[in-house]
Amino acid sequence: MKYLDEFRDPELASKLLAEIRQATTRPWAMMEVCGGQTHSIIRNGIDQLLPEGVELIHGPGCPVCVTPVEMIDRALEIAARPEVIFCSFGDMLRVPGSRRDLFAVKAAGGDVRVVYSPLDAVQVAADNPEREVVFFGVGFETTAPANAMAVHQARERGLRNFSMLVSHVLVPPAMGSWQYEPLVRRYGVPIVITGFEPLDVLDGIRRCILQLEAGRAEVENAYARAVRPEGNLPAQSMLEEVFDVTDRRWRGIGDIPQSGWNLSEAYAEFDASRRFAVEDLTVPEASRCRAGEVLQGLIKPSECECFGRECTPRTPLGAPMVSSEGACAAYYQYRRLDQGAVASHG
Ligand code: SF4
Repeated sequence: MKYLDEFRDPELASKLLAEIRQATTRPWAMMEVCGGQTHSIIRNGIDQLLPEGVELIHGPGCPVCVTPVEMIDRALEIAARPEVIFCSFGDMLRVPGSRRDLFAVKAAGGDVRVVYSPLDAVQVAADNPEREVVFFGVGFETTAPANAMAVHQARERGLRNFSMLVSHVLVPPAMGSWQYEPLVRRYGVPIVITGFEPLDVLDGIRRCILQLEAGRAEVENAYARAVRPEGNLPAQSMLEEVFDVTDRRWRGIGDIPQSGWNLSEAYAEFDASRRFAVEDLTVPEASRCRAGEVLQGLIKPSECECFGRECTPRTPLGAPMVSSEGACAAYYQYRRLDQGAVASHG
């Protein structure tokens, strides 16, 4: 862990904080897009160490949180079928659909399995030729190449009993920094690409503030150890082959044009939505969960009336309370004792 420890060094963190304080002359608001960064910020109390008036707004970067409720219901419908082995990453199991979650399907006898990679699901299909194996493909650009690879591999291996329920969302791809330039030009705001460790986040904030104070708006890559301007070219060509860009509904936000991926026509036979005829299943969003406002940075999780009361990780009303990258989960884990409402509930 030595490598990661270097990005958690308290002395270097103090230096970065001193630079941020020195550079700041007025209030600024910045959004961190990724849920992993939100967790790093809340876990390390970074937002509480910033100069007064510098606010961090938590963005929509949690793919589990933005998976629409109808997609969860499609997963539940497929997973409940006796011929199906339904494979998913673990944090999807507790995400509430309109009436229940995947854990409830499993408890009722459904064959729901947690896997750690989509390729594990391909292997499950190879090992169980008499069953239908479905993988729940959820995520941003970071997970899409592995999912594309899984579908590609299933076809290469002739596994007709494998399919994928695809709910991929697309922010301007984090796999290369060039995609952000048009955003900077259009909106005149700085964008800094940075990592997830405390020093990464502090350096990102410092660079944003230096640009804002100087009246500059540029794309800066502070995460060169992972992000190259041109991105990951083999991953991009795999994505192009297997997926098509499509309109996508984001849970709590609504329809966003060209913000998702679906399997391309060449791979349509692996589309679980089509194979199990659940494409037309639609359900309304639950009304009490304010995930949409949380995901858009309009409220902090603790401002939701249900936070820590009706909504906890054991009794979630919305995905942000159960996803490992959800803002409500971060506040519940690290901040709930700061919340009077929850303290009064013991
Ligand atoms: S605390 Fe629960 S109900 Fe409120 S926004 Fe978060 S997930 Fe939804």
